[in-house]
Amino acid sequence: MAKQGVDDYKYVGKEKFRIDKFDSADTGEFTDRAEAVDEFVHNLLKINKLQQKLYAERKEGVIFVFQAMDAAGKDGVIRTVCNTLSPHGGREYCFKVPSSEESSHDYLWRFWSAMPARGNISIFNRSYYEDVLVGKVHKLWENQILPDRMRKTDIIKQRYEQIKNFEKYLYDTGTRVIKIFLNVSKEEQARRFISRIDTEKKNWKISSGDIKERKFWDDYMEAFETMVNETSTEVNPWYVVPADHKWYARLTVSRIVLKTLEEIDPQWPVISDEELEAVQEYRKELAASLPGEYLPPVPQLPEFANPGILAAEIVENEERAKIVEKTERRKARGFRAVEELLENSPSIGSLDAIIEAIAEARDTETEFESK
Ligand code: ATP
Ligand code: MG
Repeated sequence: MAKQGVDDYKYVGKEKFRIDKFDSADTGEFTDRAEAVDEFVHNLLKINKLQQKLYAERKEGVIFVFQAMDAAGKDGVIRTVCNTLSPHGGREYCFKVPSSEESSHDYLWRFWSAMPARGNISIFNRSYYEDVLVGKVHKLWENQILPDRMRKTDIIKQRYEQIKNFEKYLYDTGTRVIKIFLNVSKEEQARRFISRIDTEKKNWKISSGDIKERKFWDDYMEAFETMVNETSTEVNPWYVVPADHKWYARLTVSRIVLKTLEEIDPQWPVISDEELEAVQEYRKELAASLPGEYLPPVPQLPEFANPGILAAEIVENEERAKIVEKTERRKARGFRAVEELLENSPSIGSLDAIIEAIAEARDTETEFESK
């Protein structure tokens, strides 16, 4: 099969998106998740490095918008892929049913405070697109107090136009908006709901509201399809991601995030020759103030701060893993799970196992520290 890149899932307003023709069980060029682990891990690492440059350069802001039906895996994608982003320059915003204050304003009002500064990334977990999804399906404006002139227009049609203009404005003023629709099938949603009901630790995720919304499935599909067709543009595209296989959705989103950052192509800021000369003088002073000779630091893995990055670094560089194994073994008594993992590291099979083990180790550390 020809290699499938993210461009196959990208809509820019030219080709029509047909939801009934879309294969949400697609796994691209892969037959099995194990084949994709290596790329996923490396994508995370590249994303992390590019974000540092984006932040340092402070030239362009990015918003990744996530929309999906319930149980499509939005939260899992954000947790695994965006976990790689440093909270320093990246933040997630979850948009729920608007509060009474929010609904007393225009529907875009509540998004202004979530706008990324240039150099930052905002993750929108749901967004103003709800106003052309749930808002459209349930005709929510009918319950609002609005001027008569608004009722004489096609409110939803106007919103598509307003959203396109809003996003164009953001693009023109330094912020890219990249939109991701995780498209899960109705059958797969049923399976995931059943699993949420059957599994005690997933019970909290199921709500009667989700089950009610499922009854409007066809209306939602129409709303998603129209949304993609009406609001995709060259600079603010929609990506429709097959979401029946969580691993493939996560891989694809990692590709989209990576591609976006590669297109922005951030560069480390360069300091002037004069400044460089001045700091060289300062460096001499600092070195002279030290008791012995200054030795450059031995390359280290990042502290156990981010399981995704750590996992990526382990795969990237076995040598570094060995350094950590030696030093961390002594330092951190609580990291038994990581130790075990590193002992088996030449054949790291599953990213989930690494992430879970490290998360477990981090809990142990917290407990250890709090005692
Ligand atoms: P979780 O994975 O925790 O269920 P979620 O994003 O589904 O995350 P919920 O609190 O279950 O969070 O749902 C948020 C709800 O808010 C959704 O049903 C969504 O349709 C609704 N919502 C968001 N924006 C609007 C809006 N502008 N108007 C009406 N409803 C909205
Ligand atoms: Mg929900």
